[in-house]
Amino acid sequence: MHDFTLHADAAAVDDPDFAEASLDRLKQVLFQHDADFSRLERVQIDRVFDRKLVHAIKYNRQVMSGDRPLPHQGGPKGVPTTAGPDIENMKFYVRTYGCQMNVADSNEMGRHLKAKGLVETQDPDDASIFLVNTCTVRQHAEDRAFSEIGRLKRWKAKRPGRKVVVTGCAAERTKEYLEDRFPFLDLVVGAKSIESFEQLAERLLDRRATDEDLDYSVSTIDQKVAAFVTIMRGCNYSCAYCIVPYVRGRESYHSMDQILGEVRDRVSEGAREITLLGQTVNSYRHGENRFADLLRAAADVDGVQRIRFISPHPYYMTDRVIETMAMVPQVCESLHLPVQSGSNAMLKRMMRNYTREHYVALVEKMRRAMPDMTLSTDIIVGFPGETEEDFRQTLSLVEELQFDWGFIFKYSAREGTPAAQMDSLPQTLIEERHQQCLELVDRIALEKRLKLVGTTQDVLIEEGSVGRTHTNYKVYVRREAQARQVAAPRNVVPGEQVRVLITNAQRATLEGEIHNGNVTFENFWEEDSRVRTCSD
Ligand code: SF4
Repeated sequence: MHDFTLHADAAAVDDPDFAEASLDRLKQVLFQHDADFSRLERVQIDRVFDRKLVHAIKYNRQVMSGDRPLPHQGGPKGVPTTAGPDIENMKFYVRTYGCQMNVADSNEMGRHLKAKGLVETQDPDDASIFLVNTCTVRQHAEDRAFSEIGRLKRWKAKRPGRKVVVTGCAAERTKEYLEDRFPFLDLVVGAKSIESFEQLAERLLDRRATDEDLDYSVSTIDQKVAAFVTIMRGCNYSCAYCIVPYVRGRESYHSMDQILGEVRDRVSEGAREITLLGQTVNSYRHGENRFADLLRAAADVDGVQRIRFISPHPYYMTDRVIETMAMVPQVCESLHLPVQSGSNAMLKRMMRNYTREHYVALVEKMRRAMPDMTLSTDIIVGFPGETEEDFRQTLSLVEELQFDWGFIFKYSAREGTPAAQMDSLPQTLIEERHQQCLELVDRIALEKRLKLVGTTQDVLIEEGSVGRTHTNYKVYVRREAQARQVAAPRNVVPGEQVRVLITNAQRATLEGEIHNGNVTFENFWEEDSRVRTCSD
């Protein structure tokens, strides 16, 4: 059908060259003339004769043969307007799989592209560069990324000059396989080389021919209220199930100056909440400085209202870090502390470097220092060798520590890790345990959330009417007046911190109303700013 339609189009303009050309030759000519190939796809799909396309082809042929002068700007779509790269007018689209480290890496790569004049778009159809930042922690994440990459062959063919870039952990682990299986990829950058992305992207853009896609006006500033700042890369641990040390290498730390510079940059772009990121983020060290010093220094940066960090390792939750969390008002009293199992036998087999007793004692210490803190965790069920008794101990730990929420993972073997050599449990057993653990964690999480109904929380608005409490609950905020159907005093805007009365906690995202109690909004703001300027 494709062949037939193209020939029909060509015949309709009385052009024997086109009518007799093979499909490949037609494509070649169209690409050469920078014609809008996506329109041809439409012709193919809709079986509609597209006169504009034919006119564009005809126009280009007249230009090339000298019958028509080369236009400076604004010729019909499809006519090249410059001979060299037109980076300023290119858009890129980023798809991120995996953890917050990957989100931060995507943001960083995005900033490098923006610094070169490219513009981020949320619509892949608009983009000239499609960047897939992959994750390899679980097979499922890798499979999803690979099937997305496969579909990009068609995306790329729709417009000349398009580029596909694959980065991240799966790119590190399977670079050769990726290049082999998807020969249309323009650049593959493993997780260990993300810091060289700027130079690699330079070469990618230099190789670019022309880009016809004009008309861009999106802001190049990342205006997120909550921003990530990577403080270290890699991991010195070797948890038996984890691929990270192999794909990200050993720990390396950014300097305090570099990190604080980035925090200031994010604040100047509109961020009010900064999340410090690292695989074992609290093992940070640079010169004499340790993680607690970095927390305090980041909290001191003008404009920073909140600091969070992820993912900490129990081993490095030192007294100084706990004291800093408790004493520095900007450091949020909320912690995601992966425990993985409640059984000492499993923790040993997983090579986690702590025991159940250590973990429990640590949580008790933190709760004494911060009675209102929220605690969430990661748990792996079905790790090789996990007995009924081991699993029961995990459930009992969940009951004992009453996590505010948690992520429960079914064990999935990753090639190249020590655990992949161990005998796996039957999948049905893993599924059953997963379901059982999930139900328990969800039940406790709901009970904890329901206790928040009727309390008042400070919510930092991130986007629209949604923000977060200090303790990291997501809250959908309605104005009190709006709820009563009368004129509201004002709207909330991203970056504002408002006091919110929690009215519903059935779902993971709480609901609440702006609450001014007995004070006016003006008084409320004065009171709030006093709280924020309190020294520790
Ligand atoms: S601490 Fe363990 S689980 Fe976390 S990244 Fe390092 S090896 Fe993986």
